[in-house]
Amino acid sequence: MEEHQCNFPDVEILESDEGDILQKGDHVLGPCPTCGETPFDHLEFTEARNAELEKALVAVQPFRPMYHWAPRERQKQIIRYGLRPGMRSTTTVESYKAPYVCFADSPSWAWALSGEQRRFPKGSEWDLWMTYLSDIQEPIIHATPDRPSGLYEVRTVHRVYKSKLWFVGSRVK
Ligand SMILES: [Zn+2]
Repeated sequence: MEEHQCNFPDVEILESDEGDILQKGDHVLGPCPTCGETPFDHLEFTEARNAELEKALVAVQPFRPMYHWAPRERQKQIIRYGLRPGMRSTTTVESYKAPYVCFADSPSWAWALSGEQRRFPKGSEWDLWMTYLSDIQEPIIHATPDRPSGLYEVRTVHRVYKSKLWFVGSRVK
């Protein structure tokens, strides 16, 4: 089979195809006309390939430093419990809780990725925390060709333990 980009045509369900779940007029994605792969198989394949990529990156560069900015108000909690996903910030007015902890491979890029903490007031204090890629459990790695390091961001839904964290320093926004 020639290397190709699968495409999954949009299929409208007709009365004759109706079932318990699909009704006439619903849209689903059909199999790729070139290779017959279904969207579900394709997703599974992509996820498996991503998991392999993550393992490879952690294996090749286990000591790549990763950075995370947290509000000063969280310092005591972090020293006690480590970095936990979905930890509510005490300074934000919004009640949004991120379900993961995000890291970047440079302090400035980590700052940029957090939108330069736009939701927080000028004068707020920020702590920079560091860990190693290999200390992040089940890292979700986003690669990009647009950065010299090839790494956009690393996320995890797991806690990063305090023993794996290093307090680097702080800055004022
Ligand atoms: Zn295909």
